[in-house]
Amino acid sequence: MRRKLVAGNWKMHGSLVTNKQLLDDVIKGLNGVRDGDFAVCVPYPYLSSVKNLLQNTNIALGAQNVSQYEKGAYTGEISASMLNDFECRYVIVGHSERRALFGETSHIVAEKYVTVQKAGLIPILCVGETLEQREAGVTERIIEEQLTAVIDSAGIESLCKAVIAYEPVWAIGTGRTAEPEQAQDVHMFIRSFISRQNSNTAKELIVLYGGSVKANNAAQLFAMPDIDGGLIGGASLIASDFVAICQAVGN
Ligand code: PEP
Repeated sequence: MRRKLVAGNWKMHGSLVTNKQLLDDVIKGLNGVRDGDFAVCVPYPYLSSVKNLLQNTNIALGAQNVSQYEKGAYTGEISASMLNDFECRYVIVGHSERRALFGETSHIVAEKYVTVQKAGLIPILCVGETLEQREAGVTERIIEEQLTAVIDSAGIESLCKAVIAYEPVWAIGTGRTAEPEQAQDVHMFIRSFISRQNSNTAKELIVLYGGSVKANNAAQLFAMPDIDGGLIGGASLIASDFVAICQAVGN
């Protein structure tokens, strides 16, 4: 049985003071909630303080990015082993903002994925199409290309130790959510694409949906058979919304 997961992506938001306020309320709200796994992916400078705040809670720590290199003269970069020092469990790789704004190709994303797994962490691999690509009818081809880059580098079975997040770019931060059936169609495509290469991996694979998930639409999305939870941006910054979304995986 696949366990459901809800991961917050704080992006470049927060401060020492507001992080504590947010997490105090999230920790309280999720105390004793056992249906599902929960995580927050926070900006690098807050890894240490958030790690301390999450001690003895049911919320795991994650990062939002990582260098594809293990160590060396890469000023400003952060390695997977450094993230390991802070007991990160998850690392987002290939978020569409990084692909679009920071020039991360599928090849670079695949290198990051490999580095994360090598360090014993779990990559949350983001895939998804832009609005133009959806309208051109190439959604599946784009996702296939994004997945294939990783499978070619790390092997199909590596996906058992990873999480995929399907995030249609047109739904991220726009308030425009994919309809549950529309998201389900792509999730089913992802699972069947993987299944053609390894059916056991496909069964175990956790595929999150991301893109304007809110407290009022999470339950319908998470009820879809191939949606195993969510990657949550904006709503993860509001404690009551994030808690409600996390609770929706148990419904
Ligand atoms: C995201 O950044 O991964 C995301 C899904 O953002 P939002 O929930 O704000 O659309």
